[in-house]
Amino acid sequence: MSLIVQKYGGTSMGSPDRIREVARRVARFAREGHQLVVVPSAMAGETNRLLALARELHPEPSPRELDVIASTGEQVSIGLLALALQHLGLKAKSYTGWQVPIVTDASYSKARILGIEDRNIREDLAEGTVVIVAGFQGIDDDNNITTLGRGGSDTTGVALAASLKADECQIYTDVDGVYTADPRIVPEARRLDRITFEEMLEAASLGSKVLQIRSVEFAGKYKVKLRVLSSFTDVNSADMGTLITFEEDEDMEQAIISNVAHNRDEAKISVLGVPDRPGIAFAILDPIAKANIDVDMIIQNASSDGMTDFSFTVHRSEYQRAMQILEPGIRKAIGARGVVGDDRIAKVSLVGIGMRTHAGIASKMFGALAAEGINIQMISTSEIKTSVVVDEKYMELAVRVLHRTFDLDKAPTEEKMKP
Ligand code: ASP
Ligand code: MG
Repeated sequence: MSLIVQKYGGTSMGSPDRIREVARRVARFAREGHQLVVVPSAMAGETNRLLALARELHPEPSPRELDVIASTGEQVSIGLLALALQHLGLKAKSYTGWQVPIVTDASYSKARILGIEDRNIREDLAEGTVVIVAGFQGIDDDNNITTLGRGGSDTTGVALAASLKADECQIYTDVDGVYTADPRIVPEARRLDRITFEEMLEAASLGSKVLQIRSVEFAGKYKVKLRVLSSFTDVNSADMGTLITFEEDEDMEQAIISNVAHNRDEAKISVLGVPDRPGIAFAILDPIAKANIDVDMIIQNASSDGMTDFSFTVHRSEYQRAMQILEPGIRKAIGARGVVGDDRIAKVSLVGIGMRTHAGIASKMFGALAAEGINIQMISTSEIKTSVVVDEKYMELAVRVLHRTFDLDKAPTEEKMKP
């Protein structure tokens, strides 16, 4: 017997019929003798609907009330799923985030989980009850309801798995695993049986929407065995989806490049004609950080005549706010010539742990893009990733070209593997 946490996404919970399917799958595992904690998302589209409702009543809704409203989607889901399970003859009990409680910090709409009081859950499990916990939500020290950021139910699932020391955390979604690229862009994309935790972390941070990045970080920190699978297969299917592995336990050979990721939710901002002296990068980015805007790539040009340009990227939804902070306030304060921006850019990235041991990957990537006439606006690298910023209109082409250039449509063969 093992303890399994199963998280079901919004499409999996999208209608009464879908919820019945989820219940059947949960029941199958329960009847095989496993203990189950189930974490559903809100029904598909529900969180968007709730947030839009809020904005109908106030153009700039208070973050606290937004979380009160947004968290209700999952509350409906847990109750419905408990009923569906009870109707199948199982013992099932639902908990909202605050009922558990899942304690978070106080950052509304992007709260972090600080701890889980899981005693009641353990007792229920010991009695053979299926425990259903609302995803995406928690409560802070002052009893305010918080939410964990869009896609945050993944993190609830992984955090519960970590806290309960579950044998496995299964993330059920509308795709059947992690692919070498988005199959809607690259029809030949292949599903990966395994991906390392580090590659998954890069892919999630690069915009692969399969898992919320915080859930991957959490899984890495607490060594949660994580698996991504489809809830649209037959309830009795033996399909194992994609397992996220830890490199050190990895005895299998690994492809050099695992996937091509993309992200169109990006915007670029350049501060032009900045005096090249100590403190300038801080003067530009500190107010951005204080406004809680995440900065991704950062580039500063080599200076000429004591002047330089400073560019960085932010999430597209925070572009206007970042521009307002810089122009005119910060620009004047640091004596820069101007601030320009572009919110029609996209980031395309190549990810693979083999980059550590193989030279020439980046140059091969740039050559392939050049051959298609795609201009690279920014570049950033880590040990296992190379990312480029390109005009949004070339994004899909860039993804396809790289997928082909690195033969990702073919299963790993000897020469694609590490020696
Ligand atoms: N319902 C929330 C959202 O749409 C959380 C989740 O689905 O994971 O972002
Ligand atoms: Mg999701």
